Amino acid sequence: MKMRNTSVFQAAIRLAAMAVAVFALSGLETTGARADELAKDLFGAQKLPAATAPHSYGFYSKGCFAGGVAIATDGPTWQAMRLSRNRRWGHPTMIRLIEKLSHDAVADGWPGLLVGDISQPRGGPMLTGHASHQIGLDADIWFTPMPDHRLTPTERENMSATSLVNDKTHLVIDRLWTPAHERLLKRAASYPEVERILVNPGIKKKLCDTVTGDRSWLRKIRPFWGHDYHFHVRIGCQPGSVGCKTQESTPPGDGCDKSLAWWFTEEPWRPSKNPDAPKARDVMTMAKLPKECRAVLNAPSPQSEAAVTMGDTGGSAVATTKPDAKPTVDVGAPPVPANAFAPTPIKRPPLPLPKPSR
Ligand SMILES: [Zn+2]
Repeated sequence: MKMRNTSVFQAAIRLAAMAVAVFALSGLETTGARADELAKDLFGAQKLPAATAPHSYGFYSKGCFAGGVAIATDGPTWQAMRLSRNRRWGHPTMIRLIEKLSHDAVADGWPGLLVGDISQPRGGPMLTGHASHQIGLDADIWFTPMPDHRLTPTERENMSATSLVNDKTHLVIDRLWTPAHERLLKRAASYPEVERILVNPGIKKKLCDTVTGDRSWLRKIRPFWGHDYHFHVRIGCQPGSVGCKTQESTPPGDGCDKSLAWWFTEEPWRPSKNPDAPKARDVMTMAKLPKECRAVLNAPSPQSEAAVTMGDTGGSAVATTKPDAKPTVDVGAPPVPANAFAPTPIKRPPLPLPKPSR
């Protein structure tokens, strides 16, 4: 296990070094996207990540990222859901963390993770859904335990998740809540990379009312709208990501206080006074994102999805070679393994890299 992690890490370093050798983001032209274009349209159309060293730009709800990797659709201890959305992408640290959580959760007695949305290949605002998840550092994990069989792609699209919370009382439905749910959240909160875990206020309250012994981890568990059938894991800005904006740290204490009581008043649930106001994504033009996000859009893609997929694929991850990928000049980069995150990189002749686009 240790060997595997080491070789994955080395492979990641090699990929990063290669990407740096091919081009540096700062040197890229930033033409291509107009300042007044809607960022959600451009980022929502991306199929593959920017093949560079990992780097998050901007904030969770206003940014983008490069050097993303995908979590495999299947691993021994997880299955990814809603595959058609193509939101299995994240910063390598995020993807490694989900894999680790899935192994640890199984050791804790949870049957395995159903992985929801992470980010788009290059992050950025989305055409639908989340306001955050833009810089590869957010991931949704279902509260539904992984079934004991591999779900078909159709099941992954259509299977509905069960809410753990009564939407009138905002309290957890007791017959659905188990000690295993608490252990899963505690495990997720135990990792130093994890800064916050967003859950429905009812779930936070359930933890406040029932967790005994060590309660320090409750500080990371934050009440938020939604998040009744999944929880949202957010890690901090990663080393090297200059320009990644850190979130305000969570207030001291377990959060089982007045700030939680507010969620059980009418105020948070009142209908919006201005329901037709445009959402942030509908007005977020390229000009409003960090300027590096234009270079992220212009950066070349990796050779295939498989080359930047981590974890076990179980044979269901399909390599999608970019149709317009052309052989490029030899830049003296080290040989590219067929899968940069394979446990044992195979020595083979250099493969063509996609031509950097203008
Ligand atoms: Zn989320």
